[in-house]
Amino acid sequence: MNASAFTSDELDQIRDEFPILKREIKGRPLVYLDNAATSQSPRCVLEASRTYYESYNANIHRGVHRLAQEATAAYEGARDTIATHFNCQREEVIFTSGTTDGINLVSGILGRAKYLKAGDEILISALEHHSNIVPWRLLADEVGAILKVIPLTADEVWDIDAAKALITERTKIVALSHVSNAIGIINPIESLISLAKEQGAITLVDAAQSAPHFPLDFQQMGADFIVFSGHKMYAPTGIGVLLGRRELMETLPPYRGGGEMIKQVTFDQITYNDLPGKYEAGTPNIEGVIALGEAINFINRIGLSKIQAHESELSTYLESQLSKREGIRIYAAGAKKAGAVSFAVDAIHHYDLGTLLDQFGVAVRTGHHCCQPLMQCLNITGTVRASFGVYNSLEEIDQLLAALDKSRQMLL
Ligand code: PLP
Repeated sequence: MNASAFTSDELDQIRDEFPILKREIKGRPLVYLDNAATSQSPRCVLEASRTYYESYNANIHRGVHRLAQEATAAYEGARDTIATHFNCQREEVIFTSGTTDGINLVSGILGRAKYLKAGDEILISALEHHSNIVPWRLLADEVGAILKVIPLTADEVWDIDAAKALITERTKIVALSHVSNAIGIINPIESLISLAKEQGAITLVDAAQSAPHFPLDFQQMGADFIVFSGHKMYAPTGIGVLLGRRELMETLPPYRGGGEMIKQVTFDQITYNDLPGKYEAGTPNIEGVIALGEAINFINRIGLSKIQAHESELSTYLESQLSKREGIRIYAAGAKKAGAVSFAVDAIHHYDLGTLLDQFGVAVRTGHHCCQPLMQCLNITGTVRASFGVYNSLEEIDQLLAALDKSRQMLL
């Protein structure tokens, strides 16, 4: 059985690109369904990393020698690829170590700019990953600002009426996830960004779980900042991107100080580099940037719309099969999802189930998914989450379901 976005040959060819998928776990084929935590890398991305180290490893921007020129061209070429992919200017693409780093960068520079005063409000939602909570809590505590939270409805989606009421002239920052990593739902972010903009608030979109799954257009979305991680979109760990609106970032102070982010330094006075160098102090993750560029090329060779259609078939199929079984609770059941389905099984702890599924070669994530406040809202300690990438198949969903049924028999 094949998802119809790809023919079975096409899906086989895609899977062939990922050497890790040939692994066996306890004599069974690996069924990797933990892509929301990190995705696997195709051969072209692995090759890009290796070729960099084997053929042109050098520091960028400063050297006049051949290797330095080649490394600089590849690094800046990847920036162009990313700018084109997300429809923004190359100056708006800042390389970070990941989503967490990007959010800390933004909260850090807004703090340094003294953008907030006591009593101002920062708006997040009940669904956020700790990375999009803790930096704002830190900033709020620093200046006496108030952290406000969009609540969920009984259907476990954003309460949009409450969200609209929470965006007022006191709201200075709105920082929201596009797709929930814990329960997979796509949040209706656009309307809230425009409301926030009407109030003059700065907006940030945590796109860690949307950038890998569907097309994003920076201009169209209208947010001031978008952050995401390379390792969730087929690139290595330790590389991520902050897309920042150029006119805004030009007015904001620098973040980390060091080489590359300056034009002129004396002991008394420093002039800072233009974008994007201003926010890329020190030697960056050159190999990671080049590999991320290659991962974006890989995604574009397949087409994000096709990837989205394929993954949507996987999540719809899993959800429909789970809902036929007794004693299984699907979170945000029926809501539009991207890349993940979260569920709980009556009378079985999620860790026990995850451990048993691993015995069948099935890798899922269990626990709070770095969303403890969401778990508190749902009054649970965790869920089992199956999350998808371009290489997953309907057969693998069936393998998960079969392993789930056997595990339940063993545990009950
Ligand atoms: N935000 C969301 C929605 C995530 O899913 C994650 C990672 O799971 C993060 C932020 C943090 O990403 P990273 O650990 O790559 O910085």
